[in-house]
Amino acid sequence: MSSFKGKPYPWQQAIWHGLISRHKAGKLPHALLFAGSGGMGKQHLAWAFAQAVLCDSVQDEGTACQTCRSCQLFNAGNHPDFQWLEPEEEGKDLNIKQIRALAGSQELKSQYSGYKVLVLHPADKMNANAANALLKTLEEPTPGTLIILCSSRPGALLPTIRSRCQLLTFKPPAASKELNAWVMQRVNKAENPELLLSLAGGAPLAAVALVEEGALVSRQCLFDGFEALRKTQSDPVLLAANTLEYNLEQALNWLYGWYTDMIRLKTSPKDGIILNPDLLTRLQALAVSVDLRGLHMQLQHVQESISQARSHANAQLLLEDVFIAWAQADKSPVRISV
Ligand SMILES: [Zn+2]
Repeated sequence: MSSFKGKPYPWQQAIWHGLISRHKAGKLPHALLFAGSGGMGKQHLAWAFAQAVLCDSVQDEGTACQTCRSCQLFNAGNHPDFQWLEPEEEGKDLNIKQIRALAGSQELKSQYSGYKVLVLHPADKMNANAANALLKTLEEPTPGTLIILCSSRPGALLPTIRSRCQLLTFKPPAASKELNAWVMQRVNKAENPELLLSLAGGAPLAAVALVEEGALVSRQCLFDGFEALRKTQSDPVLLAANTLEYNLEQALNWLYGWYTDMIRLKTSPKDGIILNPDLLTRLQALAVSVDLRGLHMQLQHVQESISQARSHANAQLLLEDVFIAWAQADKSPVRISV
C-alpha cells in the first residue's frame, strides 16, 4: 500500500478533490466527520489530507510533496501541528484525558503552516465525559484548527457533535475491473476478487483484510457447523464455544448475511444475486428447511445479538441462543426467546 502514501486510494478521488478545492479556496470547516463502513480507507485519507494541509510545497493534484521540512517531520511522527488520537489500548475508549490534551494543544499557535490538524479515530469510541469535552472544543473552535473525526458508526456519536462537523460519507465504490485488479494485486492469485468484495460489503481494504486475517477459513468452518446444526449433526453449545475463537461481531455478521441470502433465495429465487455466491447451493438447500417467517425471526435474532455483542454481553450465551434457535427453527415457526 506504500504506493498510496500521502495519496488518496483510487475510489476516493471525488472526496479528495472536494477537500482539496475547499482547502485552496480557504473554505475548510473547523471539523469534518469521515463516516462510512470499515475498510473504505477513512483513516488513510485523513492521514493524507492532514499531511497535504501541513505541507509547504503541495503538488498539483493537492498531495503532500513528501520532501519539505513539514513532510519530513510528519513522516517521522514529530510534526508539532499534527495529532492523531486513538484509544490507548485496543478495545478501550478515547478518554477525557486525551481529549483535554487535545483541547490544550489546540490553543497553542501553529508552528509551521498556520494550520493545526487533529484526527480522532474511532470517534464513536468516546465515553460521555470525553464526548462532552470534545463538544466544548467544537463549540469554541480556534481559528486555523482542523479536526477530523473518523467513524464507521457515526450514529453512535452525540447528535450535538455530529451537527458541528461537516459530514463526508465514504460509500463503497461501484464494481469495476479496476477495483478487482486493485484487490488482486494484494491477495493470492487463487482468490476471487468479486467474492471478496461481495463478502466485505464492497469495502476494498476489508476485502483484502479477509484474506490477510484468515477470516475466509473461519467463515468456512462456521458455515459447516451452521449447516450441520440443521441436520442435527452438531451441538449448538459446542459450536458456540468453537465460534468464540473468531471475532464475535464478524461471526454474527456472517450469520446475518446467510439469513439475508436465504430470505432472498426464497422471495426472489430467479434473480440469483446474493452476498455469498460461493455458498449458493448449500444455502438453497438450507432455505428449503425453514419457512420464510422462521427465517425472518432468525435474522431479527441475529440483528439483536449484534447490538448486544457491542454492549459486551456474554458471548458464549449469545451464540448458544442464536444456534439453538436455528437448530430448532421449524417449517412451522417456533417462538424464539431473546
Ligand atoms: Zn511537503
